[in-house]
Amino acid sequence: MKVTVVGTGYVGLVTGACLAHFGLDVTCADVDGAKIQKLIKGLIPIYEPGLEEVVHRNVHAGRLRFTTDVAGSMPDAEVVFLAVGTPPLPDGSADMRYVFDAVRVFSENHEGYQVVVTKSTVPVGTGAKIEAILAERHPRDGFAVVSNPEFLREGSAVSDFMNPERIVVGCDDSRAMEIMKRLYKPQTDQNVRVLLTNRVSAELIKYASNAFLATKITFINEMSRLCEEVGADVMDVARGMGMDSRIGPRFLNPGPGYGGSCFPKDTRAILDVSRQHKVALRIVEAAVAGNEDQVQRSLNKIQKAFGEVKGRTVALLGLAFKSDTDDIRESPALKIASALLDAGAVVRAYDPAAAENAIKELPGLTACNDPYEAAQGADGMVVATEWNEFKKLDLPRLKKVLKGQVLVDLRNLYDPREMRESGFTYLSVGRP
Ligand code: NAD
Repeated sequence: MKVTVVGTGYVGLVTGACLAHFGLDVTCADVDGAKIQKLIKGLIPIYEPGLEEVVHRNVHAGRLRFTTDVAGSMPDAEVVFLAVGTPPLPDGSADMRYVFDAVRVFSENHEGYQVVVTKSTVPVGTGAKIEAILAERHPRDGFAVVSNPEFLREGSAVSDFMNPERIVVGCDDSRAMEIMKRLYKPQTDQNVRVLLTNRVSAELIKYASNAFLATKITFINEMSRLCEEVGADVMDVARGMGMDSRIGPRFLNPGPGYGGSCFPKDTRAILDVSRQHKVALRIVEAAVAGNEDQVQRSLNKIQKAFGEVKGRTVALLGLAFKSDTDDIRESPALKIASALLDAGAVVRAYDPAAAENAIKELPGLTACNDPYEAAQGADGMVVATEWNEFKKLDLPRLKKVLKGQVLVDLRNLYDPREMRESGFTYLSVGRP
């Protein structure tokens, strides 16, 4: 089966490479010439564990190729995936211009019967809008528009795509449904659960899932505030809650607030959809507001620990919005870095993968090569991303290079007693 994936970012590149791994003939098309040139040279433009190997293997096998000729990549494909960005507009709604640009190119190059699949996270009702655009030029029985939202997580995107917990296909056209079943047969043969539903339900499943996960994170962050007041330990509270299978242990990690390219934008976008339909989503509203508070609380905590931040040097561990990615979109770590710089601090930052992206956003940062270089001469340290390599720091070495002994751990990576016994003024999230 020939497939084109339009948009070769985190989702498009992983989708294209993994579909090729499952034996499909895949063309990845993107308007970003620099990105495509890198890929043609065998370089992977993003940090994503395991991706390079899958890309190389499938390029060599002749099942995967890259092009900037988006129009030319379309006529041959039985299925065209749209995996372009849907970033937030200032009012919180999704900016759909990349999706509709791609749809217009598809419309001009459509041949025979083809299936257009939205992999991008799109507002409920987008499939119907795409259908209406295509119907202006083409008979309705010549195409179908399917929703197939993506649930991969950056940092484990390849294994998430290869072994998903579920595949959701929303489709109102039986011929397209058969094609989608054929496309995902390798996964269904491995007993991956597939939910076949109508298109609008599939569109909503993605937003509802992200809104729920964001709410779970905000919930535990709010509990951490209460823990700080009553002397409880949020890690034990989360563990105790998570032992209840109705709740489950995941997404109960307190921290500086959720970030990334999905939760902040998708929660705001579902609120925009709810407003259009005059339905109040009070819980999601509260999750969004609670998350904004959490970043501010993290800053307050840093301020309290350092006293005055103006003129101070802060060693910052982590810039990515979470570990195992170079993605800094809506990263709480970056928001903290930016606020510290604005307040007149010197920020010496280290991140295993995201420093290059972060410096482009915040040229005032001093990028360092490891945690100890970041700590050199600093008045204290802030840990903002939960990279594994931060969990086993050499504390005596750290103490030696730091000027001050403040350590604000926004990810609860360390044992409070051990840190205090090591002589640090240690603050974490929701722990006595
Ligand atoms: P991204 O910004 O990494 O990639 C988008 C790509 O689309 C870019 O390379 C851009 O150049 C390209 N593009 C834009 N307009 C184009 C056009 N007209 N033709 C061809 N290419 C075009 O974005 P991403 O993180 O991969 O996200 C893509 C979509 O998937 C979004 O809707 C996002 O919400 C959703 N999603 C993302 C994740 C994630 O973890 N990143 C997970 C699930 C779903």
